[in-house]
Amino acid sequence: MGQVNVSQAKVPLVDLQAQYRSIKPEIDAAIAGVLERGTFVLGPEVEAFEKESAAYCGTEHGIGVASGTDALELILRAYGIGPGDEVITPAYSFVATALAVVLVGAKPVFVDVEPETCNIDAKLLRKAITPRTKAIIAVHLYGHPFDVTPVAAIAKEAKVKLVEDCAQAIGAIANGKRVGSFGDAAAFSFYPSKNLGAYGDGGLVVTSDRSLAERLRALRWYGSADRTTVTELGRNSRLDELQAAILRVKLRHIERWNAARAKHAEKYTELFKQRALNRAVFPLQRPGCRHVYHLYPLRIPGRDALRQALQKQGIATQVHYSYTLAEQPVLAKIAGAGSFPVAESIARTVLSLPLYPELTDAQIATVVDAVSGALPS
Ligand SMILES: *Cc1c(COP(=O)(O)O)cnc(C)c1O
Repeated sequence: MGQVNVSQAKVPLVDLQAQYRSIKPEIDAAIAGVLERGTFVLGPEVEAFEKESAAYCGTEHGIGVASGTDALELILRAYGIGPGDEVITPAYSFVATALAVVLVGAKPVFVDVEPETCNIDAKLLRKAITPRTKAIIAVHLYGHPFDVTPVAAIAKEAKVKLVEDCAQAIGAIANGKRVGSFGDAAAFSFYPSKNLGAYGDGGLVVTSDRSLAERLRALRWYGSADRTTVTELGRNSRLDELQAAILRVKLRHIERWNAARAKHAEKYTELFKQRALNRAVFPLQRPGCRHVYHLYPLRIPGRDALRQALQKQGIATQVHYSYTLAEQPVLAKIAGAGSFPVAESIARTVLSLPLYPELTDAQIATVVDAVSGALPS
């Protein structure tokens, strides 16, 4: 991942400064408030943000942690998942989804994804479950909900935990409910370029399971529930007050920002269709779903040449992601070999175009012109 410095680009991939400028008085006041109060870790801002974000997701509890990766890892730890256990994840996601499994000593088991949404293919899920399976981590990749009804039904039937990786999907909706409310627990990341981004690292777990929430609060504080006796091997993994104060401000704007992302994504697709870009596959939104377009991943043969041509014209793009999880060396060693043809084909052809709420129609037109101009007709 990593943030790209794109200040020279005519169209950057993301523009975090533009967003800051649009809400500067609110952000500056929130930061000053924390500095004046002098509480920097686990104070009133974190507590308020946990309540507000859990309510936004339609869950009872929110637990702020240091990152999205920690959120996933701590959920697995809280469920007592470790060596000898298997956790199913999609074969295609950001590497942290499967890293969390390896970090607790369990084995990731990959399931191929659907070509339409790039999310875990529920039709292949049942076959991957073994007596050692303890959980399924399903990802709402790119901001589109995974197929929640069958995935939740299979998890329930197999009596395994369903963990939602919501890192790219805050605010996305399936069947009238926000993501984060379908599983036993859900993990969010506030990495700066996510739809809800902090000015540093941050993460969150939401759940309606009270005992899980209590366990997570202990695990993020060295393994102590009462802050005196350490009853389990915990971590230091906390969301800090400055980030929580910033996130509280930004949460008030997330609906507007997600709507702007969706509008821009629809504009891209509309313009590409007018240009008859026939060899390209565009992101789609399934009926009953609200896509929050963390990214606009076009899929197109000749991706690398296109990327270079766009770069020459000052248009920043990025590949999310060049490898399937099964192809990542550190994961492959533990998970073993496997063939995931859909994930592999996405990895070879996917290219994220510039997308952020402040993107203008003129910039979208520039990108579309450059893409169609760079492709052989
Ligand atoms: C960003 C991301 C993570 C990890 O979040 P961090 O806050 O960077 O640790 C996990 N899963 C997915 C799908 C992500 O996009």
